[in-house]
Formats: sequence, structure tokens, C-alpha cells
Amino acid sequence: MAAGILYVVATPIGNLADLSPRAVETLRGVAAICAEDTRHSRPLLAHHRIERPLIALHEHNESEISDKLVARILAGESLALISDAGTPLVSDPGYRLVCAARAAGIRVSPLPGACAAIAALSVAGLASDRFTFEGFLPAKPAARRARLVQLASELRTLVFYESSHRIEEMLADARVAFGDARSAVIARELTKLFETVLDGDLASLHARVVAEADQRKGEFVVIVAGVGDDTDAKLIEGRRLYAKLCEHLPPSQAAKLAAELSGAARKALYGGEVD
Ligand code: SAM
Repeated sequence: MAAGILYVVATPIGNLADLSPRAVETLRGVAAICAEDTRHSRPLLAHHRIERPLIALHEHNESEISDKLVARILAGESLALISDAGTPLVSDPGYRLVCAARAAGIRVSPLPGACAAIAALSVAGLASDRFTFEGFLPAKPAARRARLVQLASELRTLVFYESSHRIEEMLADARVAFGDARSAVIARELTKLFETVLDGDLASLHARVVAEADQRKGEFVVIVAGVGDDTDAKLIEGRRLYAKLCEHLPPSQAAKLAAELSGAARKALYGGEVD
């Protein structure tokens, strides 16, 4: 018997109508739907009159059940994979199942649709020709700050996911890492009733989120402009390295090494201001 297909189906990020007709047809036709949280997906599936068996597939059982699902597909059944919102595998489960299916030679076919990062980028008005998706930052403050500092010299636009309980701290940390003047966009509750897209510099965006409780509610994509200029990027990276190397070396040596590694001018580091 010919093997079935694993369909990876994007679901809406808020508005239930954002499910394509082809996705509906595919979900109605598969033997079963693997869903991150079956209770969460039921209203969406009911809304589109999709009545197929659901299998829970989440980060805690994915490794364990992937082989069984692959065996079912190899035996001829087609299955669909969905997550709670948006595109599976984008900060969501599915990676292990997709790897296992591909390793078994199964056809894995995408049903593209909503993705919060791309939806936010499409309305942000920041450079979108090259960007880097950073997803969620580490939850622990020290690790989060360290990651942001590492990204401070990135030339490409940066895309982050953030939740309501950390948005304020994230923006405060971003101000320190990227500077108050860096342009950014906060896309909140996209496709939902309280959709808001705020733009400005990090200082003004942070101040607004601190001042207005409503701006801290819901789900967020934070987009931060990259460093506009290669010389600026080298300087930021050079300063970061200089500060770190000064912990172990005399300042002149630290500046020499930091300049060599970053490409920044040594003079701009040694005796210059260190962030
Ligand atoms: N797989 C999803 C996708 O394709 O966008 C992302 C899942 S991730 C677990 C959930 C995060 O995505 C939220 O914490 C938020 O950062 C972002 N997100 C999801 N829906 C959103 C929306 N409607 N508006 C803004 N951000 C959203």
C-alpha cells in the first residue's frame, strides 16, 4: 500500500476565518489531526465543520509518539499536523515528527497560512528584505539580556515573540542593549479585536507600554530595526568585546584584540565610551 502524506497545516492566529479553503478541505480528508492542545483546536475545527479524530502532540509526548504516527502514515493513512495558532514548528511543536517522517521517506506537504512573525513584518514598515527570526527570548533576565547584547550589532531586522507578562521587561532590556533611539514596532493581538501596531523608538514604545495597561495585554511580536550601517555594527560589536576583554586584559591589549575581532577602529574603542 502506498504511504500517506503528512500535511503541516497553518491555522489562524486569532481570526477563525483565516483558514484557507484548501486547508479546510485537507483537514476534512485526513485520517486524524495531530493537535498541540486538542481542547484549544476544537472550536476552530467545529467552526469549519471539520470532524476528524484528534491526537494530542505536544513537546512532552512528541518524541514518544512520532514513530507510531510515522508507522500509520507508512501504512497508508494521511495525517495533518496543526498547532494552537499559526504555523506549526514556528515556536511550536512538530519538529521531531517532521524529521521522523522525512527520515522515513514520507511526503511532508505544507498548507501555508498565518504566522504571527510574518504578519507583523508585513505591516511594520521596517526593512523586510533581510530579517532574523529570534522567537522567544530566554525567560531568565540574565540570559535574556545577554542574548539581546549579542544581537545589538545585527544588521538585519530582528523579530521576537513575547508574552504579556514579560513585554515590559523585554522592552526595558532592549533599550539597554540596542539604545533608546533604535526604531521598533510592537504588533499586538494581530487579526483580533484589539489589534494594535505601534511604531517609534524603543524609549517611546517602552514608555507607552509602561503607561498604558491595555498595551500590556494579549500576544506580541516585537520587531527591532537592525543596525543601519556596517561601520556602526562593527563599533557596537567592538565595544561589546572590549568591555568583555577588559575583564581579563589590560585596556590597550583588550582594545587591540577587540578591534581585530570586530573590524572596528582601535581608536574608537580604547579610551572611548564603553556600553
Ligand atoms: N506558530 C505561531 C506562529 O506561526 O506565529 C507562533 C506560536 S508561539 C507559541 C505564540 C506567540 O506568537 C505569542 O506569544 C506571540 O508572541 C505570537 N503571536 C501569536 N498570535 C499572535 C497575534 N495574534 N498577535 C501577535 N502575536 C501573536
